[in-house]
Amino acid sequence: MKHICPVCGYDDLQQAPYDADGNESFEICHCCGFEFGFDDIHEGHTFESYRNKWMSAGATWFYEQSKHEVWELSGGVNTVHSLV
Ligand SMILES: [Zn+2]
Repeated sequence: MKHICPVCGYDDLQQAPYDADGNESFEICHCCGFEFGFDDIHEGHTFESYRNKWMSAGATWFYEQSKHEVWELSGGVNTVHSLV
């Protein structure tokens, strides 16, 4: 089962960012680099503030090798907005 990153819309997370009890996965998104349970809890970011920081830094892939062949950033972010 694949999960969608609530920050950038990356759709290949291996675990749900938060489980049914609200426990963080501590998985790092291959696209935006957000670590669930770290960047939010410890760094104080919201998904939106992290997304803005990431996009203003060029929206680069955290793991370049995971980059989709065709990636529409705006489409991904729109997907996120439609989920929120
Ligand atoms: Zn992400």
